[in-house]
Order: sequence, then structure tokens, then C-alpha cells
Amino acid sequence: MTTTQTFGELDHPSRLLMGPGPINVHPRVLRAMSVQLLGQFDPEFTGYMNETMALYRQVFQTQNRWTFLIDGTSRAAIEAALVSVLAPGDDVVVVNAGRFGLLLSEIAQRCDAKVTTVEGEWGKVVDPQAVEDAVKRVRPRLVACVHGDTSTTMAQPIAAIGEICQRYDALLYVDATATIGGMSTPVDAWRADIVTGGLQKCLGGPSGSGPITISDRAAEHINGRKHVEAGIATAGSVAGNGRRIASNYFDLAMIMDYWSDKRLNHHTEAASMLYAARECARVVLEEGLQARFARHAQAGAAVVAGVEAMGLSVYGDKAHKMTNVTAVVIPPGVDGDRVRARMRTDFEIEIGTAFGPLAGKVWRIGAMGVNARKHAVLTTLAALEAVLRGEGYGFTAGAGVDAALGVFS
Ligand SMILES: *Cc1c(COP(=O)(O)O)cnc(C)c1O
Repeated sequence: MTTTQTFGELDHPSRLLMGPGPINVHPRVLRAMSVQLLGQFDPEFTGYMNETMALYRQVFQTQNRWTFLIDGTSRAAIEAALVSVLAPGDDVVVVNAGRFGLLLSEIAQRCDAKVTTVEGEWGKVVDPQAVEDAVKRVRPRLVACVHGDTSTTMAQPIAAIGEICQRYDALLYVDATATIGGMSTPVDAWRADIVTGGLQKCLGGPSGSGPITISDRAAEHINGRKHVEAGIATAGSVAGNGRRIASNYFDLAMIMDYWSDKRLNHHTEAASMLYAARECARVVLEEGLQARFARHAQAGAAVVAGVEAMGLSVYGDKAHKMTNVTAVVIPPGVDGDRVRARMRTDFEIEIGTAFGPLAGKVWRIGAMGVNARKHAVLTTLAALEAVLRGEGYGFTAGAGVDAALGVFS
């Protein structure tokens, strides 16, 4: 006999999420997610889809017609971009300077593309000359690069890479998940062809929707690979030539048809996530992009000033550091995991751990979306001071909070 188990209603303490994402969701976004559903072809709903496209053109700072959402986490948008562009045997140059750079090359390999990586040291930005050398040698169809890689906290020089791609006639893909809505991601000025994001970093939403923007020249290439489903021929299709897109769910040619006036059925749009993404963009644009970037820069500067005043050091090349995430070197003799656990159990604050070469070496403190604010930064620093004192780490009590306060005043 089986017993019925129902468990309790969701009821946890409200935690301050100050890691590298996810972060606390803006209350307006939570409200939007509780709005009742509509049918996916209801004119009211397709109207929301069109509004979402218009909103994200502004967030991405682009004129690209093809600007919409991929249903799935940020990684879904990344995968849609790569699998829709890359056919087996295509050359791709991937800038690999962190955990998410590694992800790009891993996905490109699954596309059976010929992957050339430009290796960048963690904690530094890549030299554009190294990218140019690789592009000149390989003449790839696509160059793929992460803008801000939260694993290393570096913001890569995308404008310089965009200029190189233009000169050698390569498409440029950029993963801007960690920076969109917090640092400038000027898609058109970068001359990037496909850029993707996610909600759970600076856009202040939950994970589960991946905004994407696609240039006309990239869309043309993708549509040239259009697949014909048995019995459902679409206009201008090219099929069965071995260059068809290897995924159905992530087939951008089909997804563009769904987001176009043709409204050709593909998946059922994840309505609650669309409501969330739409509200995130409304909140961002009401604040104003420049004001928002400045707020994130100020909060990040306060985190840096605070931890440095506590005698801690910030990891990596500070001149190219993302504003919204700070990696703090764990001092000798301090147990990094225990500090994170005490931050959570005593103060209900989450800060981040690290991956790969930085595992156990740094904490990552984010100040993003609604949390890129004075009170969230000061509360986090005050808690960190208390926990570190308890761990026997010596520094001038109150120095961190005072230094951060100085940045805000
Ligand atoms: C956080 C992050 C992702 C995360 O992808 P998810 O699928 O939403 O977990 C991808 N790329 C970068 C650069 C990120 O910082």
C-alpha cells in the first residue's frame, strides 16, 4: 500500500540573494507571473508577444526585427543560436576564457562544427589580436564569445571582436546573459549578429526565459537551412541537404515563423514566462538604461570598496571587471564554505561559490537587479564582517560598511 504524501505549502524565509544569479525577483515581475493565461493565438496574447519584441529591441539596443524569447533558461537561447547557425563541418572560433566559454565550445562540438578556441586566462580579458589571428587563419562562419562571464567576473572586449568579424565576414554570437540590463550590451554598435540573455541576473526576473536578438544577415543564413516537416512544407524551404538544423525545439527558423505574423505553430509559448520577461523589460526601460547601468556600477563599486576596506582582495583584472559581480579572494585560514553557510543560516543571505580553477578560492558577490542597491550591499557587508569576525579573521570592525557607505554618499 502506498501512502499519500502532500508535503507543506512553499514557505521558506525570504533570503537575500547576493550571489552571481539567480537573484531576488522584482515584485512587479512576480505579480505579472500570477496573471491568468490566454490562448497562444488569442489576439490579446499575440499582442503581448509583439510588445515583448518591441521592448527587447530597446533592452538590446538594436533595430533587429528578430528579437524575441526562447522558452527555457539562458542556456536554451545559447543552444538555439549555435545549433541554428552551425552545420556539421562549419568552422567556428570560440573565445574560451571561463566556464561559459567552455559551454559554447561544448555545444559547438555537438553541432559537429570544427571548433577553434582562443584560450583566455581566467581573470583577464582576451587580446583582440589573438581573436583576429584565429579568424584570419580559420575564416570561420561564426565567432562565439561570452560578454560577461560570471565564473571569472571579466567583461570581454566585444566591440573590438565585432569589428574583426565585420572585416572577415564572420557572424558574431555573444552570450550576454550575465550583463544584459546591468551593463551596456549595445548589439548594433557591437555589430553582433546574435545575442542572447536570461532574466535571472541583472534583468531581475526568474530563470526560464532567454531573450534573443538576430540580425537580418544571420536570419537569412538560418532560414537558408529551413527544414520541411513531413506534410507541412513552409515557403522557400530547403530540406534534406545535410545542412538542416539538428534540433526541432531550438530551430530558430521555425521559431521565427512562430513569432512572425504567420504565427506558424511551433511550441506553446510559455505564457507566464513571457509575462515575466515583458515586465522585466518594462521595469528596466522605465528606470532607463543609463540610470540602470549607473546603479549597478555604483553598487558594484561599493562591494569592492567594502571588501577591500576589510583587508580582502578582489580577484582578477579590475579594469575589465563586470560591475555587477565581484569575486573576493578567500583569505588563508578561512573556510569559505563555512562562511557561506553562516551567511545563510544566521543572516538569510546567499553569496556565491566558484567553479573550476577558482573553486574554494573565491566567493562571488553579486549586486544585480533589485539588489543593486544600498541597503542590500550594506546588509551583505555587515553580515560578512560579523561572520568573518566569528571565524577569527582580523580587520577593523565596521571598515567595510563605512567604505561602502562612502561610495553611496
Ligand atoms: C548565468 C549564466 C548563464 C546561465 O544559464 P542558465 O541556463 O540560465 O543557467 C549562461 N551564460 C552566462 C554568461 C551566465 O552568466
